Amino acid sequence: MTTSPLFYQAGPEMPEVSHGRGVFLWDTNGKEYLDGCSGAISCNLGHGRQDIRDAMLAQLDRVAFTYRTQFENAPALALARQLVGMTDDALEKVFFVSSGSEAVESALKLARQYFVASGESQRRRFVSLRPSYHGSTLGALGMTGYQPLEAPFSDITMSSLKVSGPDFYRQRDADRETHVRRVLEETRNQIKAVGDETIIAVVLEPVGGASTGARLVDKAYLEGIRRLCDEIGCLLIFDEVLCGVGRTGTWFAYQQWGVTPDLLVTAKGLGAGYYPVGAMLCREEIVEAVMASGGFQHGHTYAGNPLACATGLAAIEAIRDEHLLDNVDARGRQLQRGLETLQCRYPWVGDVRGLGLLWGVELVMDPTEKTPFPAQANLFARVTALAKEEGLLIYPRRPLDGLAGDHFLVTPPFTISESEVVLLLERLERTFARLDREVVSPLLE
Ligand code: PMP
Repeated sequence: MTTSPLFYQAGPEMPEVSHGRGVFLWDTNGKEYLDGCSGAISCNLGHGRQDIRDAMLAQLDRVAFTYRTQFENAPALALARQLVGMTDDALEKVFFVSSGSEAVESALKLARQYFVASGESQRRRFVSLRPSYHGSTLGALGMTGYQPLEAPFSDITMSSLKVSGPDFYRQRDADRETHVRRVLEETRNQIKAVGDETIIAVVLEPVGGASTGARLVDKAYLEGIRRLCDEIGCLLIFDEVLCGVGRTGTWFAYQQWGVTPDLLVTAKGLGAGYYPVGAMLCREEIVEAVMASGGFQHGHTYAGNPLACATGLAAIEAIRDEHLLDNVDARGRQLQRGLETLQCRYPWVGDVRGLGLLWGVELVMDPTEKTPFPAQANLFARVTALAKEEGLLIYPRRPLDGLAGDHFLVTPPFTISESEVVLLLERLERTFARLDREVVSPLLE
């Protein structure tokens, strides 16, 4: 066979990875890349960490896998305790999984079972945002508000009621407060139209990630959503698969605004890219009701296995012991300044938004009207390819259903140093200079 049996990769020109150290990766031709997006916003501690390797090897020497119904295992217990502590004991129960999509599925099913157990089986609908991304399995896809991903499956998925979240870049209201008030009112009315008593939960990302390019909410919005959930008696689920575990500078993104969900899901950075591990956290009362009604009808084979949990534990201990949340904060501000300087230089850099080390950059053809570039220009792919040529990895996203232009994420590992941020920005600047010359100028002529 001459062609690769793998069909999910981007193309024959893709380099083969050789090895990684810190924030850098090398391909088999010896070319160096600065990992400006932590793989898929997962390698939060960078590459080649000895401490994580040692923790994994130590666990492998003991036992790699045991099944959750046969043995308790110490790493799972310890990791669960850490996670609960990271929520300041607001969410007391933990359910492990191996991916973000599995974590979302688990939250949806637990929330539904809670209402079945509570005698409210008429609650059969979820509310989520458009745009949003919640995963690729059918349930999580049903929550996802991104038309191209939904289209082939829309007839066969359990779709949620899609509502708009705040969009502080494109909003045309008088000010942020008015905008948030209007968005909340619209959400309230959409829910009322389908019936308050039919809603299981509102599902949202406190900081949009892959879907919206780090679109932010604010305190007033989250407080409004929390109030709304309490008023109609439904649950609030935060999807922190991407923005959780320190990415924004606090253990969980919701802590930036002090609005606590009933359930929270996280994954990606939890195993820091060394092993897949995800988790759903929730309030004890929810678990108690479900357990009293016969137990949670859900589970995945690899959930909470010792190797996964030992890896997650080592990753969290590294973040805590090395005070990496402080670095996320300091390097995040440095990155923000650098990105905003580039925005001043290139008018087609429409918006720079984010928190901690989670930054989104949106590219627009007309900065006044905020008009996206034509989709066929494939700007998101062009900027990513040029960055790669310049030795920088960024996380690209195509324009969103007319709701956002081409955008990309800059999300380096929490361990990035001051001089490495300078290098990242230099490589991005070279990328932008070439994008301007080779792609944008010809388009605007
Ligand atoms: N939710 C969010 C917010 C995500 O960003 C992702 C992954 N991009 C998922 C869920 C799905 O996670 P996974 O790819 O691990 O299934």
